[in-house]
This record gives sequence, structure tokens and C-alpha cells, in this order.
Amino acid sequence: MSIPGVEKEGKYIYRIKKTGNMRVDAIVLADYETIDEEAIEQLKNVATLPGIVKAAYAMPDIHWGYGFPIGGVAAFDLEDGIISPGGVGFDINCGVRMLVVDGNSDIVKKNLESLIKRIYESVPVGVGETSDLRFSKNDFKKIVEQGVRKVIEMGYGTEEDLLRIEDRGTLEDCDFSDVSEEAYERGKDELGTLGAGNHFIEIQLVEEVYDEEIASVFGIKKGDITILIHTGSRGFGHQIATDYIKYMRDNLKDHNKNLPDKQLINAPFKSEWGQAYYSAMNCAANYAFANRQIITHMIRKAFKSVVGMNVRLVYDVAHNIAKVEEYEIDGRKRKVIVHRKGATRAFGPGNPALPEVFKKTGQPVIIPGSMGTASYILVGTKKAEEITFGSTAHGAGRALGRREATRELSVNHVLKELESKGIKIMAKSKKGIVEEAPEAYKNVDKVVQIVDEIGISLKIAKCTPLGVVKG
Ligand code: 5GP
Ligand code: MN
Ligand code: MN
Repeated sequence: MSIPGVEKEGKYIYRIKKTGNMRVDAIVLADYETIDEEAIEQLKNVATLPGIVKAAYAMPDIHWGYGFPIGGVAAFDLEDGIISPGGVGFDINCGVRMLVVDGNSDIVKKNLESLIKRIYESVPVGVGETSDLRFSKNDFKKIVEQGVRKVIEMGYGTEEDLLRIEDRGTLEDCDFSDVSEEAYERGKDELGTLGAGNHFIEIQLVEEVYDEEIASVFGIKKGDITILIHTGSRGFGHQIATDYIKYMRDNLKDHNKNLPDKQLINAPFKSEWGQAYYSAMNCAANYAFANRQIITHMIRKAFKSVVGMNVRLVYDVAHNIAKVEEYEIDGRKRKVIVHRKGATRAFGPGNPALPEVFKKTGQPVIIPGSMGTASYILVGTKKAEEITFGSTAHGAGRALGRREATRELSVNHVLKELESKGIKIMAKSKKGIVEEAPEAYKNVDKVVQIVDEIGISLKIAKCTPLGVVKG
């Protein structure tokens, strides 16, 4: 296969020189064999957007998404650049949190079935599933404006948890008045729920550690039991994305008249609509952080009651978000709005945004694989800050679309495969099981090898699945 215009620049590094309306080049960091042409077209479209700085980037897990590819990173100048809901994604602040169990791993393994069952019963799972928690509108407003800080105040965790969440789980620059009544209605009963399909809770074993010193700063070692939580802002974030796509379509026709793809709808960052979306997006991001915090609380209760063990937080990353950050570009410091859509922040040692615990090491980066393969924890690097606006991959990335997976695979096949590996599963929908089959994803070992070799994040440990709860 050869994609026109894609030139090899180094091992796993490809450049598409700007042509036509592209304002900058596009850079793809990937195994050439796994790159899909449609996603490259999307990346080239992103490179045409106003104020884009340096280049449009693709991580090795790149695949097709709404307007912007998933596994994409694009930074826009704060003064003359844009912000785009499609560059963040519908599940605003979808992200991953890793927990680690304090206690004997063999006891956890022996009680695996009860633990999975208890988690499945305590965390509401599935499309549109609501929880039993009810918050007053005033408390809900505080949760979306203050994020994890507020839910910890309400008893869902401890102060120490805050240090182990990207931006302490609290984004400023948000105002509940930028959120529609519809978004509130969809979101109010979904705090503390997992959602469907790609979202999961997985119990894993730390199988291999590549850097013991950094792993110990992260709080894990070989043989530990870890837990991954993957979920986001549920119907709340989805409605906010939907609302602002519509508002921008209705109100910014002139600004958006030359788009190569209408899904790239956007607003100048400094405009009224740009600022309102940024504020509402931050509300959804805080909601997602709070959601993962409340689910952590439920998992802690499950472990306490089934095996009497405590569960600590390792780290929580956002992988669908746009953030204001400062970088040196062409010799001068510039503020940009970095869109990471299916990409993880990967700040290195010394970055002022990191809390003291991670100042020496760099931040933890979590890259899940699939329910039948490994997942990884890595560390961010200075190199990422230099070449990818402090970003790396967010997963293995889809190899098959949901429809393709459903056509090509069967539920029984997937269940048999998991059983043969000794992996327990409890899932809400059969549809989800095939759509999320390990074969539907690219090879996570390869994705991680690539980001590690390029140096935009470095492997710290590999975890393998023992049991999974799926939406
Ligand atoms: P996304 O946010 O793009 O839906 O998913 C992020 C990544 O999670 C995917 O690229 C895939 O590699 C990974 N993933 C999806 N389902 C599972 C699962 O059940 N277990 C694990 N460990 N990873 C998964
Ligand atoms: Mn999601
Ligand atoms: Mn996600």
C-alpha cells in the first residue's frame, strides 16, 4: 500500500508536506502498514484550519473519527486560532484511571469472580444507565464547576487522590451557565455510571516492570493487582458537544464557509462562541473526572467488602480534551489550545503543571490495549513536549470499525478466546462484546513500542487482564 504524499522521514515518522489549503504539514508517527487513508485525509483537513501551529499530528493509534481523526493532536494559536468540538470528540474527557490494590494478589485472584460480580452490581453499566445517586441542582453545578475537589468534599475519596489526577481533576475556566438545560437533564442521573461499549473496568496483573524506580514512584511493582477504569462524561458531555456543534453551525456560517469537511465546524478561540464552548467543555471534563472518582469509590467499597483490601489511586488521564498550554515555537513562547482527541498528555520531568510527586519522573501515561491483550503504563517525556505538544497515544486504536467487527466476529468466538486465556467477563450487551473484541483493535504492544522508540513516552510497566466489566 502506498498513500500519495506520505514521505518517510525516519523510523515510524512520516510527513505529508502541505499542499492545497493546508497551512502546515501533517506528521504521522506510526507503523506504515496500519495507517488508514481516510484518517490521513482527515489529518490533512485539520492542517487547513485557522491558526494551526507547527503541524497536525497523528499518533500510532490513529483511525477515522468525527471530523478530526482519533489519535490526533492539533494546537492552535490562542490569538488567531480556533477551538473545535470535533477536535475533542463527543465523549469530552473520556479518559483512563489506574488503581492499585494493597494486599495479597493471590487472594484477589482467588476471589476474582466475586469481585467482578460485585463491581458489576455496584457500578451501573450500559447505554443511558442511571445511578441511584441524586444530587441537588446546586450540588451538580458545584461538581461540574469544581470537579473532583467537590466530590471529595462530599466523601468520595481523599485529598491525596487529587495529586494523582491530571490537573487535580479540577479545570478552572468553566461556568455552568454555558451548559444547556438538556445537557443537565441528560447528565444529572448519570454521575457514577460506566456507559456502554468501549467503556470498561478491568482487573489486571502487573506482569512486567521496565523501570522499577519510576514504577515505585507511581506506586506499583511486579505482581501487583491494578484496576483500569475507562469512561467519560456520559450523556452530559455528548449533549454539550451536540449543542455547540449546532450553535456554531447556526451562528458562525461565514467563519466556517470554506471548511473541507463540515464536521470540522469551529469557532475562533477568543470569540464569544469559542469561549462559551471552552467553558462548557471544561464543565464536561470536570464531570468526567468526578465520574471516575465516584466509580473509584464504588470499587473501593467492593474490594473492602469482598477481600478487605484498600485500593489506591495511581493516576487519571484525560484523552479527549482541548487545553491551553504554553510552548516555545520558533524561539518564542506562545500560548496555544492543544486539541488531544484520542491522545494522552505526556508531560516530562520538571513540567510546572505536575505535582511534586511526579516532578522528577514525568507524569504517568495510561495506554489500554483490549480486554484480551495487555495494557501499559508509561511516563511522559521532555521529547513529547518538544515534538508533539506534550502528547502520546491513548490506546491500541481500532483496526476494525464497529460494523466490520460485528460482521466478521461472533460473540461465542470472543467469549471462548477470553475463556482460553482465563479472563473473566461480565458484560451488559452482546453487541458490545463483539464490537470490542481484541481483534477489533490494533496491536497495543506495537503502538507502545513505537511511542517508546520515538521517545514521546517511555514504557514503565505492562499489565495483563484477569477480569473485565464491559458496558
Ligand atoms: P477509546 O477511548 O478510543 O474508545 O478507547 C481507548 C482504547 O481502549 C482503545 O483504543 C483500546 O485500545 C482500549 N480498549 C477498549 N476496550 C478495552 C478493554 O476492554 N480493555 C482494555 N484494557 N482496553 C480496551
Ligand atoms: Mn469514551
Ligand atoms: Mn476513551
